Amino acid sequence: MQPFTYAALPSRVLFGSGMLDRVAGEVRNLGCGRALVLSTPEQLAVAEALSDRLGVLSVGVFGEAAMHTPVDVSERAVDVVHRLGADCTVAIGGGSTTGLGKAIALRTDLPQIAVPTTYAGSEATPILGETKGGLKTTQRTLKVLPEVVIYDVDLTLDLPQDMTATSGLNAIAHAVEALYTQDANPVISLIAEDGIRALATALRRLRQSPREHEARSNALYGAWACGLCLGAVGMALHHKLCHTLGGAFDLPHAPTHAVILPYAVAYNAHAAQPAMSRIARALGSEDAAQGLYDLARSIGAPASLEAIGLKRADLDRAAELATANPYWNPRPITRAGVRELLEMAFTGQPPETDHARLERA
Ligand code: NAD
Repeated sequence: MQPFTYAALPSRVLFGSGMLDRVAGEVRNLGCGRALVLSTPEQLAVAEALSDRLGVLSVGVFGEAAMHTPVDVSERAVDVVHRLGADCTVAIGGGSTTGLGKAIALRTDLPQIAVPTTYAGSEATPILGETKGGLKTTQRTLKVLPEVVIYDVDLTLDLPQDMTATSGLNAIAHAVEALYTQDANPVISLIAEDGIRALATALRRLRQSPREHEARSNALYGAWACGLCLGAVGMALHHKLCHTLGGAFDLPHAPTHAVILPYAVAYNAHAAQPAMSRIARALGSEDAAQGLYDLARSIGAPASLEAIGLKRADLDRAAELATANPYWNPRPITRAGVRELLEMAFTGQPPETDHARLERA
């Protein structure tokens, strides 16, 4: 066995159905009594219902969470925290809302309860990405890790089909890269493989029956497992590419992950064979990249970078930006290799599998 380092993250997790009933108890467990409930404008009604349910334990709702955690929104939220005398936050929503809770915690040290409603996995990580003036900066600090995460399967029953697919593949990407990252360790690899298996199986099922409780439950469990991977170890080419494409070309977060994943995996296939075997096994496929491509197609995820708004003219610049700063990846990053990857992702053609590559050699 290779030497490794493993650090467990301090977080209390509750998982099940009907778990919104447990939020009040968790607010009190934290020694708090004045929660500010956070949401996006789209989920304001859900947040208000939770605030009503909390009764005297809630000081109100701040419903302005937005994608990529803009600093001006966080600063407005901190003003509201001070004005209302909040002593904790309860973020109900996807990664954007969780991000707002983290940004408030960074600035105030207030404890957080996260109630995720997508599969993004941010609630399980000590990572915060913030944007200011179009620039995204990411930091890793325990100050932003939510103290409590409450997974309520019921909240995900109506997650729209397109978000179910892209958010699920976004989660799978965390586990995939955790299997071949530089600081992989056996505990996280176990969690990663199980996360991929749970999500892939559930996503296929949810395509047929979007409200099936057991499948929603497995998908949410898988999302947690995959989020743990993102929180525990470093990532590689796939996350770097998605970060670049999202930041420089304003592509949507989860759909970008959904499109890029099979190609990033194909790029790394030869350099990370043991990880590829585990990914393929978790998918029930013979080849990791092809298995991910087939999964994405079968659940209706967007098929190409072109389909989610990138222009062909942007491909050269994207390759330039994604290779400008050196970073670790199982296979060395080259501009030509990344440009070729982007070309395939732009058209949405099947990724080149190991088998095909060997045949060509
Ligand atoms: P999101 O939070 O932006 O949600 C997208 C939209 O869907 C929002 O309008 C939201 O209100 C709505 N929504 C959420 N749950 C819903 C539900 N169950 N039913 C109906 N509508 C629902 O999207 P996301 O993909 O969850 O998160 C993306 C953001 O999270 C990005 O900014 C990304 O950078 C960040 N992220 C951060 C980390 C981290 O560790 N820091 C990890 C993953 C993602």
